[in-house]
Amino acid sequence: MRRAIFPGSFDPITLGHYDIIERGITLFDELIIAIGINADKKYMFSLEERQQFIREAFKDEPKIKVVTYEGLTVDFAKKVDAGFILRGLRNPGDFEFEKAIAHTNRKLSEIETVFLLTSSGKSYISSSIVRDVIRNGGDYSILVPDTVVVSS
Ligand code: ADP
Repeated sequence: MRRAIFPGSFDPITLGHYDIIERGITLFDELIIAIGINADKKYMFSLEERQQFIREAFKDEPKIKVVTYEGLTVDFAKKVDAGFILRGLRNPGDFEFEKAIAHTNRKLSEIETVFLLTSSGKSYISSSIVRDVIRNGGDYSILVPDTVVVSS
């Protein structure tokens, strides 16, 4: 079974993530969306909300699972018996950052990182821009799956 994890903060999931997940699932038998817990980070959405947004968005896709994890991504991948880490690339900044992480993960394990290039028209979308739009009362709905709802 070809199993991959797609790790990230997903604060919140965006149409950029959604696109990578939809395309990534065609490459694997199972894709585990792994929401990393970082005690030092401040999030806009709770872990439960972030999990719920993704679960709802993919409720009709049995190959997708949503979980949370703490610690090293490669340790988590080993724990769930995943041979691959899926990541998205938007721009040269992402590439440089992801390259260093992928090399490190490859030193630490046998796990391969698989990159998908962002779809044209999605490369500008990031969770931090979505959070900014939300904070300032803008129409965030065009940037996220419709399962992302801000309760005021
Ligand atoms: P992290 O906290 O690890 O950066 P994110 O939730 O921001 O987590 O992103 C998780 C993954 O999704 C990363 O590989 C990131 O490059 C990718 N990603 C985010 N937005 C997009 C987008 N618009 N197009 C393609 N990939 C994206």
